[in-house]
Amino acid sequence: MTTDPTPTPDHATTTPAGAASTPGTPAAKSMDAIMALCKRRGFIYQASEIYGGINGFWDYGPLGAQLKKNLRDAWWQDMVLRPCWGRSGPNGKPVRCVPVETCIIQHPRVWEASGHVAGFNDPMVDDKQTKQRFRADHLFGLFARPQSSGGQGHFEIPKVTIVASTVGEAVERLVSEKPLRKIFNVRDVGHSSGASGTVQADLGGGMHHWHVEAVRWNQLDEAALQEVPSPFTGKRGSLTSPRQFNLMFKTYTGATATEDDKVYMRPETAQGIFVQFKNVIDTTRVKVPFGIANTGKSFRNEVTPRNFTFRSREFEQAELEFFCHPDESVDWYRFWRDFRMEWWKSVGLAGDNLVLREHDKDELSHYSQGTSDVEYRFPFTAPGFGELEGIAHRGNFDLTQHQRHSGAKLEYNDTERGEPLPNGQRRGERYLPHCIEPAAGLDRGVLALLCEAYTVDPSRASPEFLKLHPRLAPIKAAVFPLVAKDGMPEIAEKLHADLCERFWRAGAIELDEKQSIGKRYARMDEAGCPFCFTIDGDTLKDQSVTIRERDTGEQHRIAIDAVSGFLTDKLGG
Ligand code: ATP
Repeated sequence: MTTDPTPTPDHATTTPAGAASTPGTPAAKSMDAIMALCKRRGFIYQASEIYGGINGFWDYGPLGAQLKKNLRDAWWQDMVLRPCWGRSGPNGKPVRCVPVETCIIQHPRVWEASGHVAGFNDPMVDDKQTKQRFRADHLFGLFARPQSSGGQGHFEIPKVTIVASTVGEAVERLVSEKPLRKIFNVRDVGHSSGASGTVQADLGGGMHHWHVEAVRWNQLDEAALQEVPSPFTGKRGSLTSPRQFNLMFKTYTGATATEDDKVYMRPETAQGIFVQFKNVIDTTRVKVPFGIANTGKSFRNEVTPRNFTFRSREFEQAELEFFCHPDESVDWYRFWRDFRMEWWKSVGLAGDNLVLREHDKDELSHYSQGTSDVEYRFPFTAPGFGELEGIAHRGNFDLTQHQRHSGAKLEYNDTERGEPLPNGQRRGERYLPHCIEPAAGLDRGVLALLCEAYTVDPSRASPEFLKLHPRLAPIKAAVFPLVAKDGMPEIAEKLHADLCERFWRAGAIELDEKQSIGKRYARMDEAGCPFCFTIDGDTLKDQSVTIRERDTGEQHRIAIDAVSGFLTDKLGG
């Protein structure tokens, strides 16, 4: 019994789950098609592709690099330059944030204090036969019982196992993936939602209607583990017990490369903020409450990198630590949680595909008074969701740890609080501020934007196109001469030069003179360019141009002199 007939070697790319079944949502979109478009149009390439690729690493091509920069810039503008779009916080005052840029390699004791050396582990399981490795908590057992049993039946041993990120993905793969359907002779698929589904198949002992239910490995009975079929070969007894595996990449500083020289590549950008907290307080005029923002690469030696860029070993984070008085921390937590959800909507992820999931009390760390995830329904998680950003109330856990491990005094002297003195001033209240941490992943953000924007419409000349938000689109506008004669190219070149001069900060403006006008529109649609301006015969007579809007395909005319104003309205700035 094989659940994955094409096991993936460690250096190759994992093929994502295929299209799922809920119409009108990204579930109906094919991840293979999205990945193909990303490659074809230069958004995302496999890293080291000419050497066969390296699992868990991705490069961005010209359009992808600009798209990601636009997302990073949007985050920076709305979190650092004009935090929360100029809104006031729960204290009634404008939100204040400052940036830092900290090193990927820090003193190794930073990671002892943060808990990453001791606790940043994933449970790892090996298949003794195929040597494949995966995260134990990503192994799902699909339990099945005949529907005719009226819901009764034994559930100790899963019929099939599948490596997946969510329960929904596991069930969805059984009912939608061709190889799995073939193995189990799946004929008819009933409903599938969340953790369960119904299939007509031969899951053992003949063709039946089965009710299938997915359960994570760590919920399985220990005694049953040896009986669990391998997700790669279906054989029983070939999986090892889970072992803890630290996710931090290690390297050495200096030439001697002894154990004493061992350092770690940061697994998150946040700790760089905590260790510079005192310097920022001492060298600027910021006062609590305020935030410190940090963006940059992080590294995790993920056991099972998968689902395109969603789970990579090198990725970029955009993190904020917002420091506040303990009494105000719950209000600030709620404020940031709601703002971050609103922000993701503002860049184009509105709709049913975005949810804010508040963690249950038993999911919270002992120091936390709340954590929420902004989650997106990716095609490979549908009908479930995958985390885009976590917003955590971290109490004063991190500052306490760094104060204890470094010996540095990290307390804040709040001169706006504390006992009033006879001279009218205050004595100052000393405390370790509490921290709210909105921690976003830019690569997952780009992937969500691409999945959301990807649209299929067979009636168009561009049957696949990207409805990217104009703020994020890597190409903002394109200028075309209808034909390469009658002075049209010269007018197009002049308009293109004027728009580049005016809008170069916003993004690329393209000039394209080749191929038919339909093909040029289609090229721009696939790149997610929202507006095209065409110089045609009428331009020569009345100085007007055709505007063609990507999402509707509608065309209308405006004066050539009004193009710049039109784009200013649409792009801002
Ligand atoms: P997960 O549970 O998916 O492993 P996490 O909860 O460990 O994620 P955080 O430590 O909260 O993630 O990191 C903040 C953000 O960084 C995540 O919301 C995600 O967007 C991004 N991120 C984390 N790990 C990866 C990864 N391996 N590849 C791409 N992005 C990642």
